[in-house]
Amino acid sequence: MQFFCLRMGQSGSQLEKELASSLNEHYFGLVNFGNTCYCNSVLQALYYTMFRERVLVYKQQTKGGKKDSLLTALADLFHSIASQKRKVGTLAPKKFIQKLKRENEAFDNFQQQDAHEFFNYLINHIADILVEERKAQQSQTGQGSGGLRGSHSKAAAAAAAAAAAAAAANAGSGEGLTGDSTEQPSTFVHEIFQGTLTNETRCLNCENVRQKDENFLDLSVDIEQNSSLLSCLKCFSNLETMQHENKYFCEFCSSKQEATKRMKLKKLPLVLALHLKRFKFIEQMSRHVKVNSRVVFPLELSLSSTFDESNPERVYDLVSVVVHCGCGPNRGHYITIVKSHGLWLLFDDDIVEKIDPSHIEEFYGLGSDSPRSNDSGYLLFYQARDPSAPPQPTTAVPAASAASTATTTTATGSSTATTTAGNSGHSNQGSNSARPARGDRA
Ligand SMILES: [Zn+2]
Repeated sequence: MQFFCLRMGQSGSQLEKELASSLNEHYFGLVNFGNTCYCNSVLQALYYTMFRERVLVYKQQTKGGKKDSLLTALADLFHSIASQKRKVGTLAPKKFIQKLKRENEAFDNFQQQDAHEFFNYLINHIADILVEERKAQQSQTGQGSGGLRGSHSKAAAAAAAAAAAAAAANAGSGEGLTGDSTEQPSTFVHEIFQGTLTNETRCLNCENVRQKDENFLDLSVDIEQNSSLLSCLKCFSNLETMQHENKYFCEFCSSKQEATKRMKLKKLPLVLALHLKRFKFIEQMSRHVKVNSRVVFPLELSLSSTFDESNPERVYDLVSVVVHCGCGPNRGHYITIVKSHGLWLLFDDDIVEKIDPSHIEEFYGLGSDSPRSNDSGYLLFYQARDPSAPPQPTTAVPAASAASTATTTTATGSSTATTTAGNSGHSNQGSNSARPARGDRA
């Protein structure tokens, strides 16, 4: 097992020379503490989304007044990167890793972990912390305010205002027969990442439609060989028929009936986090295998138009991609590519390099006709281009089909309920505790 990256960097000073002197941004590699690239890669991906600004605002608001948590450790790390004198360098996220290992024993070892599971844990855990803190604040003051006291960051305030506007615009759009209108605690995690899917089931006997809303913080997408992200997403709108032993209990007919089922994307998040399901659990083998299928992901994603032309669209830009490198689930490495100020950069633990946009296609995966590499996009972060324009409270953006899972939060925001919205006989997550050790770095 190798603890540190083999490639040692000349990169820093070279990169620093290439950056415009006017550029007010920091590109810092993160030291690997023994197979912690799953963590480094996700932190880098998040740092270059609007999430960073909200974490920094949290840091400003709480100035030492909070007890140590994974969130304060993250806020300290982000603040440390953002306040460096130099633009390029390396930092050791030691405190964060220590805190992570103390908080969750699943990460308390030197094995490679699943970057998606880490991402999932991180944002849900942060949301929990924020909800708890607000509750404590409310019980102290009698009445809480979720305001931005103490924020002196214009960008952050604008982002927060946009998020709040977006949240407001989406509130109350919960029509549907039995729409789940349980109130969600709105933390900045929810404001940024939370979208809503509607499960729609139509009884084929009485034609009644039942709708149920389900919130998600990220979407897990089934992938196919030589496909595009768009075609994978379009599978969301596929109609699934429930028949034979899978008949649906219709409450209008009071009996089991044949039905059709599909999911629609009802509310689009500000940052759409997509998880390509590259680790498939094969029951016969009792283990996970990597699906290295080539999936082309666009730099720009315009969502509702993809599914339904009658709907106004929300345009997203690809801002970061966590890439899994390696040919199998038991060995591998994670790196991140990021778009920042018009530049594309590659973060490989402590190494940061500028890359040409034309290299991005190397991370699509292994094509059957054009074998290129074992490095394939695993987590994709698409950020709304104009976050101040509220996402359309769409009623007809079909989404998520049978074979997709949505990671949802409960009404209390306190758990990571990964709901499997369908029948796919495999899953690399959820109740299956046989978590793959994605191993020693190649
Ligand atoms: Zn019926």
